[in-house]
Amino acid sequence: MTLDEILVEIEHAEKIVIMAHETPDGDAIGSMLSMYLALKKMGKEADVIVKEFPRTFAFLPGANKVKTSSDIEKYDLAISLDCTDLKRLVGREYFEKAKKTIVIDHHSTNTMFGDLNFVNPVSPACCEILAGMFEYFDIEIDAEIGSCILTGIITDTGGFKYSSVTSETFEFTAELLRKGVNVSDIYQRVLETRTKSNFELLRRATNRLELLEDGKVAFTYINKKDEEEVNAEPGDHEGIVENGRSIEGVKVSVFIREKEENLYKVSMRTGNGSNINVSDICYVFGGGGHPRAAGAVVSGTVEQVKEKLLKEIKKVI
Ligand code: AMP
Ligand code: MN
Ligand code: MN
Repeated sequence: MTLDEILVEIEHAEKIVIMAHETPDGDAIGSMLSMYLALKKMGKEADVIVKEFPRTFAFLPGANKVKTSSDIEKYDLAISLDCTDLKRLVGREYFEKAKKTIVIDHHSTNTMFGDLNFVNPVSPACCEILAGMFEYFDIEIDAEIGSCILTGIITDTGGFKYSSVTSETFEFTAELLRKGVNVSDIYQRVLETRTKSNFELLRRATNRLELLEDGKVAFTYINKKDEEEVNAEPGDHEGIVENGRSIEGVKVSVFIREKEENLYKVSMRTGNGSNINVSDICYVFGGGGHPRAAGAVVSGTVEQVKEKLLKEIKKVI
């Protein structure tokens, strides 16, 4: 699958729709908005479908253009970004009906569900793949597109601190600085600022955090009731799982969040100094992600989900 083939499809399409995974993070939002802005530069007007837009990213250019649904049933082209599989894709109804589909992603567990699939699992962020792609397409990455791309890079690398970061990541960031992108401002907005609700959820999750298996596993959770009580909005659960991974001796940090009754969204992170592959663990439950950051959806009560997960975690720690 080559970039030229992707370019041909974009050039031929009139009605284009852009989408990403559910509960979108900074990389999902940054990827969609930078793609939207890049297509605009190519003379294409695209729809961006987002059902839950985290307010942290409302400052990004193009954020006010997103839609929760569309009247167009059959698009010429649908582009999925930062998403492993069809079941996690928001707006999959448009994707499934589109004449042509393209998948661009950086998850090794991507199921290659598009007509064209451009997946680079060593890229630290989907946004970094897009940066290379836009350069190849000869689209100038201006400060607006750059801000969106940098948002994805900063959030998916934990602020340039994960081992996924490459020299290219820094070279690209340096280039954006030269172009006038306010790296410090974006960093503070997307990583260093908590909503009050996010802080309240973190407080509850921290109080409940258990250290299991001789301190090798950190486990905590939040329920729908917690989210209601603190007036949580989309994205307000982000970052909670990171808390557990920094505790000395923790090999796996687990955070579960009630999605529906008896159904939990699992977030797993590898502890600092450990090399456990949490994507492999989540894969057992039909999920996936990256070696050091992965997720899945598991049924049961908090206790039941905890036991199911621990059973698999114990095999590898
Ligand atoms: P999260 O814990 O939701 O922040 O997700 C960590 C990483 O795993 C992200 O790259 C997600 O895109 C990915 N991920 C989360 N949940 C799933 C899932 N159910 N299936 C596949 N990948 C997932
Ligand atoms: Mn993502
Ligand atoms: Mn990503």
